[in-house]
Amino acid sequence: GAILGPTKPTSTSRRIIMFPLPFQGHINPMLQLASILHTHGFIITIIHTEFNSPNHSNYPHFTFKSIKDRFSEIIHEMPTNPLIYLNRSCVDGFKDCLAELLMESDKEHIACLITDAGFYFTQAVADELNLPRMVLQTNSLGSIVAYGVLPFSSKNGCFYLTKDDQGYESSVAEYPLLKVKDLVKISTNPQMSADISSKILKQMKASSGLIWNTFKELEEPELEKINHYFAVPSFTLGPFHKYFSVSSSSLIEQDRTILSWLDNQSHKSTIYISFGSDISIISESEFQETAEGLANVGLPFLWVVRPGLVIGSEWLETLPEKFLERVGNRGRIVKWCPQQEVLAHPAIGCFWTHNGWNSTLESICEGVPMVSSPCRFDQPINARYVSDVWKIGVLLENGFERVRIETAIKSIMSGKEGEEMRERIRNLKDKVNHSLDKGGSSHQSLMSLVQDNICKFA
Ligand code: UDP
Repeated sequence: GAILGPTKPTSTSRRIIMFPLPFQGHINPMLQLASILHTHGFIITIIHTEFNSPNHSNYPHFTFKSIKDRFSEIIHEMPTNPLIYLNRSCVDGFKDCLAELLMESDKEHIACLITDAGFYFTQAVADELNLPRMVLQTNSLGSIVAYGVLPFSSKNGCFYLTKDDQGYESSVAEYPLLKVKDLVKISTNPQMSADISSKILKQMKASSGLIWNTFKELEEPELEKINHYFAVPSFTLGPFHKYFSVSSSSLIEQDRTILSWLDNQSHKSTIYISFGSDISIISESEFQETAEGLANVGLPFLWVVRPGLVIGSEWLETLPEKFLERVGNRGRIVKWCPQQEVLAHPAIGCFWTHNGWNSTLESICEGVPMVSSPCRFDQPINARYVSDVWKIGVLLENGFERVRIETAIKSIMSGKEGEEMRERIRNLKDKVNHSLDKGGSSHQSLMSLVQDNICKFA
């Protein structure tokens, strides 16, 4: 069909109901997608949990409906798996809310429901209410291909090996890009991971379509596999943050004062370090190795230490002695920052990241090579793509060790290897921009989603 430019919703526009998973790395892409669809003429209703509620006032053009999740009551005694917990505790609230929305409005008026892939329970509710459900998958295509084949249910114990065990360094037969030592990080409870991923994949298969925050040129072989595996259509219209920034969906206040500090650093001189929004992911000794590594490199750095990042510690109490005096004005530590703007700043030369999918994409879009310290879930998979497939970063394979940290950062900041990575990531950055241009792959995918799919739901 003809190319449809952005249009504002009108009183006869159709409504899309969206339901994000209540974590920063999931809320950001869902609200970005909501904004994208809104500029293409849809009215948006966001159903969300009370826990980690998005800030309504940043989205005056959306309607918000909050449901009880009972999560806030138990957050301090974190359930073994928050996803399983939420898929149970949200059922009644979500069902009632959706049924009410359907009653309130003319049924024809609601085009579809879009929920996070992690809310697998919603497919049954959508079926019951006879509403098409599309899925937003916030992970990479590659990680979902991997999750589909990893030997979670195997009895051979490969998820429990330690570095002294034979086979720890070998490739995983089902997904040779990964090593057995990556599996150990991907899941500490393979039985539970098998259970969750099979539920997610099953309900993705049962949905009316899959929306991915990626772009075709980055993951073409993986897209082919996904298209083969899922009979429903896949839309790769990312990276979403190139349409709308993440700052309005930030759950934590961003420290913007560091932007003027960055203005005073020289071109590509500064290391940016952030391990995402997850809490309790690094140990005290890993935290200290990170600090020593940064002190030893001798370059300017901006380090995001989210309160609770370090197991058993509030914020900075376990920094090595006199660390702040030693680094002086060369280093800044903040609780949260406007990451997209930081990565786009000319002073940033490398990003030391946990390789959450959003962070990985944001780094690619700004052409910033990475040092990877993946912690869990899909992060080790993303990190292998960064280091071994796209070759735009260095993976710290053996955890946090000050000497290796220093070597990795220096190889990116000053080595020939770093120059080559920079060249390759610049190339990917160009591809991102082309894919978003009129006629590019992401643009076409978006057009196909809004014109040929969502609009056709009866
Ligand atoms: N982020 C941010 N400020 C920070 C650190 C992170 O705004 O100081 C944002 C970042 O831009 C990204 C999201 O938080 O959009 C983190 O998502 P990701 O998938 O990388 O990791 P997760 O937090 O889900 O582990």
